[in-house]
Amino acid sequence: MTQELHIVGGGMAGSEAAWQAAQLGVPVVIHEMRPKVETFAHRTGNLAEMVCSNSFRSDDDEQNAVGLLHWEMRAANGLIMATADKNRLPAGGALAVDRDPFAEDVTAALKALPNVWVEYGEITELPCDGQWIIATGPLTSSALGEAIRAETGADALAFFDAIAPIVYAESIDMSKAWMQSRYDKGETEAEQKAYLNCPMDREQYEAFIDALLAAEKTEFHEGETAGYFDGCLPIEVMAERGRETLRHGPMKPVGLTNPHQPEVKAHAVVQLRRDNALGTLYNIVGFQTKMKYGAQTEVLRMIPGLEAARFARLGGIHRNTFLNSPTLLDAQMRLKSRPNIRFAGQITGVEGYVESAAMGLLAGRMAAAEILGQPLPEVPQDSAMGALIHHITGGAEAKTFQPMNVNFGLFRPVDGLKGGRRGRKDRYKAYTDRAKSAWTDWLGAMANAA
Ligand SMILES: Cc1cc2nc3c(=O)[nH]c(=O)nc-3n(C[C@H](O)[C@H](O)[C@H](O)COP(=O)(O)OP(=O)(O)OC[C@H]3O[C@@H](n4cnc5c(N)ncnc54)[C@H](O)[C@@H]3O)c2cc1C
Repeated sequence: MTQELHIVGGGMAGSEAAWQAAQLGVPVVIHEMRPKVETFAHRTGNLAEMVCSNSFRSDDDEQNAVGLLHWEMRAANGLIMATADKNRLPAGGALAVDRDPFAEDVTAALKALPNVWVEYGEITELPCDGQWIIATGPLTSSALGEAIRAETGADALAFFDAIAPIVYAESIDMSKAWMQSRYDKGETEAEQKAYLNCPMDREQYEAFIDALLAAEKTEFHEGETAGYFDGCLPIEVMAERGRETLRHGPMKPVGLTNPHQPEVKAHAVVQLRRDNALGTLYNIVGFQTKMKYGAQTEVLRMIPGLEAARFARLGGIHRNTFLNSPTLLDAQMRLKSRPNIRFAGQITGVEGYVESAAMGLLAGRMAAAEILGQPLPEVPQDSAMGALIHHITGGAEAKTFQPMNVNFGLFRPVDGLKGGRRGRKDRYKAYTDRAKSAWTDWLGAMANAA
């Protein structure tokens, strides 16, 4: 008899993982705590419930990284995409979904499979043996969260997301910004130039504080409290505490000399730190914020050097349980300390319905290959799936690891193409062409191995 795969959490990731493994002939048990145990965001007992917006975002598979992820999941016979397509609502270039029939259809499709069983109940411990995937999402129950923390260590599991905005490096104006670590700290030149600095004079700083104070902010969801803020206040809360607070915090101007104007002392400096090994993404240090997205782009583009900034992701603070995956998981999303347990979905540090389902798809296939004793070719880094899994399991900077949406900043550059805004259309097309070909080859190799 083939060994069973147990999946904890029947959300976006768990449902897709179950579907993929079951299609490959593996018996699957899904352990879902709802409706017995509720979360503050879910409303039903259905699998794959969409907790907030009903959008899977852009469906453009040539010019958009999430659209490309849709394409790859469709090519891999993904349940979440097929069901989203079936329940599609008109939404221009976006894939919007009729949420209740969508979740009902996913639930019915899984329950209709002869080798899938759904057991309703909360799992509170990490299992010692058997093959498991934990896909309990951003609202992982407290008991299981504590068990994961006991295994991984307090610093390796976050219970909320304090996201500083992430900027595409190529959209930063280097005629205003410069590379330098405070007091040129570090042994190597790379360390001494680890930060990208954007200077402000007094007038710019005062205008920035006014804009921060006036900006529209999002409210907290029920169940989220200001207690989450300890040690990482949003910038607008710092500004509310005093107009000078930021200048003594993340915007302090000390230990830095602007090579463009060495004789002028900056009144404040915004620092950005490299966010991935490729050097294509930079996060704005200490700039977690609850400003609404529209207000956020407007305010952040007031920073000299960031006037034309494009954001790989905007900042935010909300409840979100996620692992420090770059240190804890191996390339197959197995917990290094307990390789019988894989993680999938938002808990691995991806963000969004589509990305979570995508990591479920990979985890399901990986677990099935292991159970069936089939070789598994490495997921190609040039596919959207590969770019994402590579980022969370090693490509991202572990110290500043924050949940990530799929975006072209995670992709290796294509040689010989123009950088900057003008070359963007050709570049994105080249990324998506290369990704589709790599993904198709991978799916072919998996099928041959079976
Ligand atoms: C309030 C909120 C709003 C969001 N809004 C959006 C949005 O608009 N768009 C977007 O793309 N993403 C949004 N997200 C992120 C969204 O949750 C994820 O993108 C996606 O649902 C994550 O998929 P998942 O499978 O990892 O987790 P989930 O879909 O949350 O599934 C996890 C499942 O595990 C179950 N579970 C938890 N603990 C246990 C346990 N101990 N035992 C058994 N079962 C358990 C839960 O009941 C749940 O069914 C939001 C998240 C939150 C919290």
